[in-house]
Parts: sequence; C-alpha cells; structure tokens
Amino acid sequence: MNIYLDIDGVLIVHGKSVAHAIEFLEEITTKHSCFWLTTHCRGGENRAPEYLLKMFPAETESMLRKILPTDWNALKTDAINFTQDFRWLDDYAMEAEKEILRKNNCFDKYIRVDLKNNPDQLKNLMEVFNG
Ligand SMILES: [Mg+2]
Repeated sequence: MNIYLDIDGVLIVHGKSVAHAIEFLEEITTKHSCFWLTTHCRGGENRAPEYLLKMFPAETESMLRKILPTDWNALKTDAINFTQDFRWLDDYAMEAEKEILRKNNCFDKYIRVDLKNNPDQLKNLMEVFNG
C-alpha cells in the first residue's frame, strides 16, 4: 500500500532522530510504496533527504531516496491518491484535511503519531505494517 510520511514530529523531534526511526523506514520502504508528505517536500521541491541527512547517518541516504516526492501546497490531502489504499502518518492534520479524509471515507487511514504519549509508536506501527 501507499504510505505517506510526515517528518517533523514523526521522524524528527527537537532536531533529533526519534526512537526506531531508521528501522521503521527500512521496513516500510522495502514492503510498501512510500511518499513524503511534509513541508520539506512541497511545491515541486524535495528537500526531505537533505534535511534528514543532517540528523541521520550518511548510509541511510539510498533508503531516503527511495521515498517518493509529492507535490502539494495548501493541503497535504491534495497529494494523497484516494483511489489506492494508504496510510498517512502525521503528528498533526488540519481540520480541512480531516474533512477531506472524511469525505473520501478515509479518516481511519490517518494515523496520528503522538510520540510524546507513545515514544515507541514507530516500533508498534512497524508490527502493524508487517502483519
Ligand atoms: Mg509534523
């Protein structure tokens, strides 16, 4: 399935890679089609790998480059392909984005990442995506 990935609050918190981020990306990029859905990849420019490589080890570069860019401006949901199964991982969705998910009967495909309350959430999600 397609997995859409936010970065800040999901892979990076306070300028640091979060727990399990790299294993999580390794797992999902081998098993699923992954797309960036982050302000670091927007309006036709993909700066996500460069941004993450400030915090991730250099050997993660080829894996990061496997994650496909999206092009969106105002709403992240503009980049989601609703004709295919997907999950969208983000620490925050705007009300307008939630409304579009509901209109497409896809609200359950939005996974709110809340590492403050669940620091091992990426590890748990890895099990969900593999199961
Ligand atoms: Mg975020």
